This record gives sequence, structure tokens and C-alpha cells, in this order.
Amino acid sequence: MNRYLLFFFLVWLVGCDKVDKNSKNIFFAGEIVNPTSSHIVLFNGDKVIDSALLDDQNRFSFTLDSLQQGLYHFSHAPEFQYVYLEQGDSLMIRLNTAAFDESLIFTGKGEEINNFLLELFLANEEEAPLIDSYFVLEAKDFAHKLDSLNKTKHELLAELDKDGLITGKEQAIAIASIDYNYNTFKEVYPFKHKKLSHNGMMEALPDDFYNYRKEIDFGNKEFTYLRPYYSFMLNHIQNLSYMDCSKDCTTEGNGTKNQLHFNEHKMHLIDSLITEKELKDNLFRYVAFDYLLHVHDSEENIGNFINTFRELSKNNRHVDEIDNLFKSIENIQPSKSLPEFYVSKVDNDTVSLREISKNGKTVFYFWSGNERSHFDKISKRIADLSASKPNYRFVGINIRTSEGMWKNLLETSKLDPDNQFRAVNFDALRNALIINKLNKCVITENGQIVDAFSDIYSAF
Ligand SMILES: [Zn+2]
Repeated sequence: MNRYLLFFFLVWLVGCDKVDKNSKNIFFAGEIVNPTSSHIVLFNGDKVIDSALLDDQNRFSFTLDSLQQGLYHFSHAPEFQYVYLEQGDSLMIRLNTAAFDESLIFTGKGEEINNFLLELFLANEEEAPLIDSYFVLEAKDFAHKLDSLNKTKHELLAELDKDGLITGKEQAIAIASIDYNYNTFKEVYPFKHKKLSHNGMMEALPDDFYNYRKEIDFGNKEFTYLRPYYSFMLNHIQNLSYMDCSKDCTTEGNGTKNQLHFNEHKMHLIDSLITEKELKDNLFRYVAFDYLLHVHDSEENIGNFINTFRELSKNNRHVDEIDNLFKSIENIQPSKSLPEFYVSKVDNDTVSLREISKNGKTVFYFWSGNERSHFDKISKRIADLSASKPNYRFVGINIRTSEGMWKNLLETSKLDPDNQFRAVNFDALRNALIINKLNKCVITENGQIVDAFSDIYSAF
């Protein structure tokens, strides 16, 4: 559609509100103030449904003719937010990226549920420090505080309902957004509370503390990508597996402190509880990533974990992603050769990491020109380490920075160009060395890995 036509169409929509109530089409449009990207992308779960370019007045529109009613989300990089869509909706948004969620407003047919979900989202952010301060309370008082927050949200919803402004399916999403949010804090409570009181001992909870557990829905497709629901599931699984495991798995070497056992225990629990395939796949993926990225277990244990994962989570929709991560981790185990990865020198020649580190002890660290305070801090740390650990060579690998900016920074900060290189293909480097945090460092000796999951601040 030509943009003048589109503009008139929008004015017509907003001005006259003469939308065909029986239409199966969904019209979703809006205006972005201070855009941070050139387009808007609409998602169903993790699948892209459609994308729309912003025009020269920063307006976009989607006309969707075969969409199921339900929860979607849209992104205007780097932010995203929910949108609930239903046949016949003609929904407009306006938002200012300077305060993305706070400025967002929905108007038109379908606005009520969307503004309500947004209101809950903002309330959750606002209440977070308050709820944090409740964890010190005893269980009964803690539950009471949460129940009263929960009640105020249900009262708001009842107002909308009384005016007949929301449908049954919308109401189910709204109720789930309220209840799963507050119940998540109850799942977390015993762990946070024991750290704050009772000398770190887990105490008995009142009998009715987990009453809501009788009504948990473990297989609602519509809730799969609802954040409060997903976050509840993660914390519920964590709670149950910890409690079961510390009670039932008392044979030697098992229990919650054995990371391989504990994470396998979690996967068995997910397998037995969750009935919805996509939710199950996502939870399995979460456990796999958590274990593979954070535990740094032995190669043998990692192999065992992956075998259990493949056995329990057949046809997992994320299997390629997890296999790639697993292979990368296997490739950077102690005593293996560094991956044959090429980086740029200041004179534009390329050289491999293996070549750089072939003689003696070399530590690779990472920095980006876009994270200046991190760069200043790590440069100071490297200067100190170079003085106190003269038998190591500290090599900086620059990531996510343009060549010009990189060279400028090298010059102005007087770094030794012989020890500075730039990753041209950052994504490939990130996958090969699993750079999931900027303070990570890779310690090597004669081209072989000593520790690929070290931290530049705690390693020396
Ligand atoms: Zn166990």
C-alpha cells in the first residue's frame, strides 16, 4: 500500500472507528517516536510471522488475514512487548523508544486486554523491590502480603469484566498473568528466606502455603510464551527438584550438590510433569543451556548429560542449537588445541589464535569499543597482571567494534599492538569460544587450552 493511502487509512480508522466487526482480518499498526531500528517484527513464540518497515513518518502497519487468536509479541530492536490479537481487531500503538514500555499505549478494537497486560507488566517491574523486601518475613506474613497484591490486580480485572470489555480467552490470559506472577515468588520463597533468616536452615511452611499448586496448568498452549507462566514453571521445577532431590537421592555422590545428577533429576521432572510439547522443549533447553554454560563439568559428565537429554527430549525443537553448544564445549576442553580461528592484526594481516599462542602461556581476554567503562577497567586489570605475572602474555581480542574505531582506541590508549587483535566474524568467535560474558578469559599454554571458562578478575 502506498504510504499516502496508508496514512489516510489510519486517519480514517482512528477518526471514524468504523471497523467491520465481522472481519476475520487483524489490523495492527502504529507510530514509533525516536525509532531505534528500521522495522517492527511480529512473533508467535519464537517464530517470526511478519515484519513491517517504518515509513518516513515512522509509521508501520500489518494486515494479517489468517492469524489464530492469542498472545503474540512484537519487537522494535532491541526491545519487545506483548500484543494480544484476535480476529476483527484493529489495534494501534504509539510508543517512544526513550521510555519504551512506559510510553506504550494501545488504542482501537482490542485495546482493553492489551493495556491491561501492559499495566500488569509495569506493575510487576515497579513492585519488584517491594517484594524483595518481603522475603525476610515469616511464611504466613509473606503469603499474606503477596495475596493482597494479587487481590488488587483481580479487582482491576473485575472492573473490565463488569463493563464487558474482555472476552473469555482474554480473561484466561489476564488471570494467568496475575496468578503465576505472584505464585512464582512463593516458589522462590524458601530459598531466599533461608538465606536471610534461620541461620540458612530451610524451615517448615504452613500447610496451605502452596495451595495454588492444585491448580497448576502444565499443558496450556496459549500460555507457553506468557512470561509470568514460563518463569513460574522454571522456578517450580527448581523448587520441586531441589526438595525431592535433597530428600530422596541420598545415595552416595548424588543429591543437589552433584550438578550432573541434579540437572538430570530436573530433566526427569520436566519430562514427567509438563504435557505441552513446546513448553517442555523450552524448559529442557533452559536446563541444558544452564548446565552447559555455567557448570563447566568434566568432559565425561557433559557427555552423560547430553545422552540423558537426547533420550528424554526426543525431537526437541532446539536440538541443533544445543548440539552446537555441546560440540563447541567439547572442543575447548582442557589440553585440546585451540580452535583454528583467524583474527586480524593491526596491519590487516590475519593470524590464527593457535599461532598467536603457540609459545608459552597466553591468556586471551575480550573487549568491545562500545563498552567503554568495561574497556577502561579491563585495560587497567591487564596492565596490573602484565606486571605481576611476567610469565604470561595477555592478548586482547576486540569484538563488535568497527575497524576504524578499534585502531583509534589502540592508539589513544597506548596498547601494545603486538598483543591486540580484532575478531572480524564475532558470531563465529562467540560460538567457537563460547563468549557469554565479557570478563571471560581463555588460558592457554603452547597452543593448548588450560581453561577456556576462566574469568579475568578471579583467575589470577
Ligand atoms: Zn536427585
